[in-house]
Amino acid sequence: MARKPPNARSNLTKVAARAGAQGYEQRRAERAWRGWYKTKRWTRIRADQLEREPWCWRCLEAGIRTWATVCNHTIPHRGDPVRFWTGPFDSLCKHHHDSDQQRAELEADRRF
Ligand SMILES: [Zn+2]
Repeated sequence: MARKPPNARSNLTKVAARAGAQGYEQRRAERAWRGWYKTKRWTRIRADQLEREPWCWRCLEAGIRTWATVCNHTIPHRGDPVRFWTGPFDSLCKHHHDSDQQRAELEADRRF
């Protein structure tokens, strides 16, 4: 005779869904700053920085001149609006930004 499966599973699913939704909201708040990169204000800050320091300073250290394309936050801003908008900034090529800075930021996130 077939019995109805216990309800435990669907309860667990609900709890997991709720936890997932909370995590999502949290992540969304933490990542709101990603949208700041799309603003005119940021475009101007970036252009100013790349005009002031057109070369990737990490490449310069290695004796190579590479046009910088990334206005990098010298100190990871981690969503802090003051740090995000006022810097300090430095100029990096995409390669150095993606390899060095992303790793530093990920490590900082994990420590958080
Ligand atoms: Zn570089």
